Amino acid sequence: MAKRLSGRLIVVSNRLPYYKDADSAGKPTWKRSPGGLVTALEPIIREINGLWVGWDGVFLKHDHSAKSEIRSASHLGIPGTRKDYKLLPISLTRKEIEKYYSQFSNNTLWGLFHYFFEKSSIDYSSWEIYKKVNEKFALSISKVAGEKDYIWINDFHLLLCPFFLRRINPKYKIHFYLHIPFPHVDIFSTLPWGRELLDSLACCDSLGFQHPQYMKNYQGVVQELGAGRKPDRLSGKPAEDTKPFTYVNPISIDFDKFDKTSRKVRVKKRKKELIKQNNYLKMILGVDRLDYSKGIKQKLLGIEKLLDTCPELAGEFCFYQLAIPSRESVAAYRSLKKDIDELVGRINGKFSTGTWHPIQYMYTSVPFDELIAFYSAADIALITPLRDGMNLVCKEFVASHSDNDGVLVLSRFAGASMDLKNSLAVNPYSIEDICKALREALAMPGAERKRKMERMRENVRTNDINVWFDKILSVFEYTEKEGESHV
Ligand code: UDP
Repeated sequence: MAKRLSGRLIVVSNRLPYYKDADSAGKPTWKRSPGGLVTALEPIIREINGLWVGWDGVFLKHDHSAKSEIRSASHLGIPGTRKDYKLLPISLTRKEIEKYYSQFSNNTLWGLFHYFFEKSSIDYSSWEIYKKVNEKFALSISKVAGEKDYIWINDFHLLLCPFFLRRINPKYKIHFYLHIPFPHVDIFSTLPWGRELLDSLACCDSLGFQHPQYMKNYQGVVQELGAGRKPDRLSGKPAEDTKPFTYVNPISIDFDKFDKTSRKVRVKKRKKELIKQNNYLKMILGVDRLDYSKGIKQKLLGIEKLLDTCPELAGEFCFYQLAIPSRESVAAYRSLKKDIDELVGRINGKFSTGTWHPIQYMYTSVPFDELIAFYSAADIALITPLRDGMNLVCKEFVASHSDNDGVLVLSRFAGASMDLKNSLAVNPYSIEDICKALREALAMPGAERKRKMERMRENVRTNDINVWFDKILSVFEYTEKEGESHV
């Protein structure tokens, strides 16, 4: 794939795909980082033997200058290294993680970019550390990157990294892909540091978005606030007005991997066990990181409304919610967990009988095969984010249904709803709407389920992660040819 490129591909993201942690016996071990970005990118980077730059989960005792030591994944003992790739670990202090990651990225930016004003705090000391860590990343990268390499920065944690890199070397090839939504100018302009972010994005050769609306929002911001300015070669301060090449490229999944795994004998066996364990009732499934943007409360309220309005459905189905622990150091996430624990308890308390509970709630990560067994055992996937850059879970559900059966209930505010037109689209802010879609999903005739699922599978199969990555490479080539680089 990346043989097309004339230089090396350097992927940069907040975290490496694996981070250092301790197992239950306290022994150091590598754990896989959760979330869609790693699921999507890791197989590609393995395939092309690329270089990945990111935080390794280690807390430095003392701050010291950026170290740049490239290691190979197999040498570090990272699991599953059928094909190898290289890592450039960035270690950060506890204070840096607290301010740059938990506060500024996961509170201020995540909240604002997902349209949650009330969750997004404005804290100047976090901004200062965000800047410092972005500069640290840039310095580490500059020690290993050459002018022929493609530096590909992923996501909102590193929005300032292009500026610092461009200041170090005006000839670098710098590309950026935003995995989350880009907000409307009315929202973006509430951020006191919007100017600095635009200046940094202007330093990129290309800027990729998940959805046409997010690109439109960025262009609207540029129109109102002006394009950003790349740094002056001598002073390092923002100087010339420039615009990166912008494009839309919705991220996807490795369809074949999910499809093949769902056909494995041991996964099919596990699927049967889950169906039996569920007493052959209809299974509705939700899989989400425990995040307020995912609309988990709304779907629980949708289940409650369903049972309130259709009491005859009691004992006919079970809703399994798998909540993947996430950002437990951020107060809003801890309080969300408490709310969800209480809501599950209240709804189960209200409707349970001696032999039946409407909700099975699991607060844990699960191994890959187990996840696919759940996806393929589920009759209905209930995915209701209030705002989501893309949402890979719904595509994974579809790819795991090699039986061509199953219904997807999907929020209109997930980027994926643009591709998955044969889902039942809901407005998750309306509990009534979720309830209505669930009724429809439970009653949908087999032939209609099959027709819709076949179409969705065809869409995900023909727009898989390889198509997405191929387009990224084409953009790299195009910007080079067009001489759009900011030299
Ligand atoms: N996932 C995971 N651990 C699990 C269950 C799921 O890492 O125990 C993965 C899931 O397969 C999916 C990702 O988490 O690829 C969630 O991605 P999505 O785009 O839906 O949301 P994000 O977490 O990136 O906001």
